[in-house]
Amino acid sequence: MNLDAAKAALAHLDIDENPVSVKAKSRDFFWYSPVLKARLDHVTADFVVAPRNEAEVIEVLRVAHAHDVPVTVRGAGTGNYGQAMPLAGGIILHMKHMNAVKAVHPGRVIVEPGCLLKDVDVATKPSGQEIRMFSSTYATATIGGFISGGSGGVGSCTWGVLRDLGNIIRLRVVTMEAAPRILEFTGEELHRVSHAYGTNGIITELEMPLAPAYDWVEIFMTLPDLAQTVDYAAALGREDGILKKLISAYESPIAQDYFQRVAPHVQPGDNLLGLMIAPHAMDGFLTFTARYLGAKVIYRSDETQWPREPGPVYEYGWNHTTLRALKVDPAITYLQVRYPPGTYAEKIAAIRAAFPGEVIQHLELMRENGQVMFAGLSLVRFTSEARLDAIIRAHEDMGCMVFNPHRYTLEEGGRQSVDDRQLAFKREADPKGLLNPGKMIAWDDPHWDYAKMYAYPKLQVAE
Ligand SMILES: Cc1cc2nc3c(=O)[nH]c(=O)nc-3n(C[C@H](O)[C@H](O)[C@H](O)COP(=O)(O)OP(=O)(O)OC[C@H]3O[C@@H](n4cnc5c(N)ncnc54)[C@H](O)[C@@H]3O)c2cc1C
Repeated sequence: MNLDAAKAALAHLDIDENPVSVKAKSRDFFWYSPVLKARLDHVTADFVVAPRNEAEVIEVLRVAHAHDVPVTVRGAGTGNYGQAMPLAGGIILHMKHMNAVKAVHPGRVIVEPGCLLKDVDVATKPSGQEIRMFSSTYATATIGGFISGGSGGVGSCTWGVLRDLGNIIRLRVVTMEAAPRILEFTGEELHRVSHAYGTNGIITELEMPLAPAYDWVEIFMTLPDLAQTVDYAAALGREDGILKKLISAYESPIAQDYFQRVAPHVQPGDNLLGLMIAPHAMDGFLTFTARYLGAKVIYRSDETQWPREPGPVYEYGWNHTTLRALKVDPAITYLQVRYPPGTYAEKIAAIRAAFPGEVIQHLELMRENGQVMFAGLSLVRFTSEARLDAIIRAHEDMGCMVFNPHRYTLEEGGRQSVDDRQLAFKREADPKGLLNPGKMIAWDDPHWDYAKMYAYPKLQVAE
């Protein structure tokens, strides 16, 4: 790697070489995981380049390729899993300037990757439209980072997840070659680069589908029993006439212990639900809720005045739950569990019985191929890596897939298997293996057997 030559060739672009801010821009939310915190805390890039347009992206990639410098692309750095951490140093390609919403059409928007999720909605709302789904980091994360590192979120109870057909329309991608190419992907080809952590191309434009926009009524309600809470959430998910954007469920004592502004309004033992319901669906929602004995609406954003406003209800859900718990108790960490359609209720009950007080259920209702299921972003009281691994194995033995957030590779954080489409495209688009190195095991070590945690051999050494 010839860093000095690369830096000199890119000197006319927006470059940041200040070691303090370079380190800050080299970090994401990897520290949610005590396992990743122990391994990646020291990692930093050598310098940051913020391209203003696609031509500058091409220039950076061409120069970096010529001088063998790794490039790790960054949106807002809110990813977990260490996705945006430059394990082998090199350049951070910061997308903050490429944030234009280029066009809004009926049912779709064309946008640059560095646009914040909330700013996509600012541009689409005048046409009565909004993005179908967003991560709970709506206020801070970019659309490019969401598509490259996220999976789904607020909206997934109606629309499914990003990998479902129709939830991304088109991606425009620049390759990392001597002469970088611009490619446009639709259909099956989208999966080459979506959720690929920027390991095989840089997304420079996205076309995303839109949904009708509503002034969602944000709701907190309580139910005394967790099994009943799960049943309620799933049944609400199946009520197709009631328009909703969020159905989150929190086992007691999450609300009591970690949601400081909600805690004064719940009783000991109460389980909490966080919901977003369309205003004209409120009558249907209240009629449905009245069928559940013990269900109590404690907050409605259109009516309730709490002395201390809770803020957006979605900022309690998805991975914000973990953040709130971590702020109160630094010994908390989390898992990402898939509770499948049909058997989620038994599986959630079995996990609760196996780990009382150690694994606390936080569930997000999702739609999957016409059925409802739950993503569990379970809170875990961390004691040791060995114990965490044992808890994960127990989940897998009970038939609950875990997307392990304590690993930094695509495979270990995903389905523990090679994605042939992503690998094949990396061979074509990044022949020197310079894009976000260390994140795709299949590229580094095709015979890896997943028996233990992968350790990228070229990971920067801590000083
Ligand atoms: C509190 C909290 C809540 C969260 N809630 C959710 C949630 O509800 N749903 C969810 O899916 N995730 C969630 N996440 C994870 C993360 O916030 C989301 O994935 C987010 O949308 C990432 O956006 P970002 O701009 O911060 O991306 P970054 O962290 O900057 O990047 C994520 C990955 O994408 C790559 N990347 C970024 N831009 C590009 C590009 N233009 N081309 C190619 N690759 C690129 C990066 O290299 C990195 O590997 C949460 C995280 C936190 C900390």
